[in-house]
Amino acid sequence: MSLTLYLNRNDWLRHLAETESRFPRFIPVIKGNGYGFGNEFLVGAAQRAGKRSIAVGTVEEARQLEGEGSFDQVLILTPVLTELEADDLRSERIYTIGSRRHLDHLVQSFQRLIDTKPNIWRDHHPEVRVVIKLQSTMKRYGFPLQEADTLEQLETIGQEAGLSIRIEGYAIHFPKDGMSAAAKETQLESWLKHIPTEEKRSFFVSHLSSAQYLRLREKYPQVDWVMRLGTDLWLKDKSFVDVRATVLDIQPISRGERFGYKQRKARKNGSLVYVAGGSANGVGLEAPVSVRGLKDMLKLTAFWLLHILNRHLSPFTFQGKRTWFAEPPHMQTSVLFFPAGAALPEVGEELPVQLRMTTATFDRYVEEGAEEKEAPPLSSAAEETNQTLGATS
Ligand SMILES: *Cc1c(COP(=O)(O)O)cnc(C)c1O
Repeated sequence: MSLTLYLNRNDWLRHLAETESRFPRFIPVIKGNGYGFGNEFLVGAAQRAGKRSIAVGTVEEARQLEGEGSFDQVLILTPVLTELEADDLRSERIYTIGSRRHLDHLVQSFQRLIDTKPNIWRDHHPEVRVVIKLQSTMKRYGFPLQEADTLEQLETIGQEAGLSIRIEGYAIHFPKDGMSAAAKETQLESWLKHIPTEEKRSFFVSHLSSAQYLRLREKYPQVDWVMRLGTDLWLKDKSFVDVRATVLDIQPISRGERFGYKQRKARKNGSLVYVAGGSANGVGLEAPVSVRGLKDMLKLTAFWLLHILNRHLSPFTFQGKRTWFAEPPHMQTSVLFFPAGAALPEVGEELPVQLRMTTATFDRYVEEGAEEKEAPPLSSAAEETNQTLGATS
């Protein structure tokens, strides 16, 4: 009795394979809640797709996921400013540095490790691989264009400490909206004038269209273009996933009767419908939205007015319509209110749920669709079709 993610595995796997033609040499981004699938599951999918490189969000995620699969490159997208451990000196690791401070931290942290364990090089790769993050109009961390000509010299930092820094490549993160393809190209080109490409450095990019990416590859074949893909890879098409919650119980309630965590009084006669999935699963979590135009404003005003009246629309649907929360969701169960006379679901039935996949975690993962001969199961534990994937997140 659970909140379940059903995955149309064949279509999803076909899409992962097709993505290679739209974004040759792309690197899958595996981070956070694993886009709803769980990071371990995505590691399995990346391996299935033949990927030898993955990008993760944090050093903590790298530590967790390196045990799940073997890769030639594990790119950490966020700069590290916490203390490193001997195990962090791994040959596949690539650290992102967006400022001199980020690099100094890596060097000093590894230096401290060498000082405490002088023979550390014997069992570890003596090279620290880094990607230099360049500033885009995102205005996140990144070196400014004025410093472009000095970036290659960063490899010499750490020499006196006995460390060798290897610049694996450069990275730029473009905004998803609000910047034209032409503006992105202009920005890329001003960087390409300054950074060396003859050594076939990699250039990691994000949020470019397939057409633009393919054009850049053709126009600058001396650059090793690598597209980082998260949402567009794992969640490109909503038809791949289907989220449903089991109805756990139904209780009649009369007007004025108290119920629930808050002991609020029922406003009308009706039924309390208990369904799987609560705040712990990401139910009822709303990220702040950015309002554009009158329509958005009106929608948001209606939303807040309803909140003031303690009326909360739930993401659970029944017979094609959104249902109402009886009270705000908590942990692993939600309570819905159905007024008297309305059609009711049955206990054990599953209701479709609309969840934001980057904040959702599920109790159960089920792969649907007939097994295709050439497609072995994604998870090693999977033996037959319609099996659970082994929930990980
Ligand atoms: C998270 C991340 C991505 C993937 O982002 P999506 O919007 O999920 O596709 C790409 N590049 C960088 C640098 C990221 O941090």
